[in-house]
Amino acid sequence: MATHITDECINCGACEPECPNEAISEGDEIYVIDPKLCTECVGFHDYEACQAVCPVECCVPDPNHREEESTLIARAREIHPGKDFGANFPSRFKKADG
Ligand code: SF4
Ligand code: SF4
Repeated sequence: MATHITDECINCGACEPECPNEAISEGDEIYVIDPKLCTECVGFHDYEACQAVCPVECCVPDPNHREEESTLIARAREIHPGKDFGANFPSRFKKADG
């Protein structure tokens, strides 16, 4: 599921540079995540980088936007065509599996 930012955002800007896909930008009122660019950090980290730095913990999974790991790594490959993610790419799903 794509990560989204709730209205508790305090516009600190900490999350924006952490996103490997440049999915985060400053919106009209709060920071926003483009779900077409968010891979939940699959391919880069075994955790969501924006969630890790947000001081008010308002970068959270969007329950209305659930996605499979296969969808997310396919998106990462589309966004970064020159990068070889290999078979053992980092993913929060693998972490969850232990
Ligand atoms: S979860 Fe990762 S890919 Fe998605 S917006 Fe946050 S930092 Fe970017
Ligand atoms: S880190 Fe959290 S509070 Fe700061 S801009 Fe991003 S979503 Fe908003």
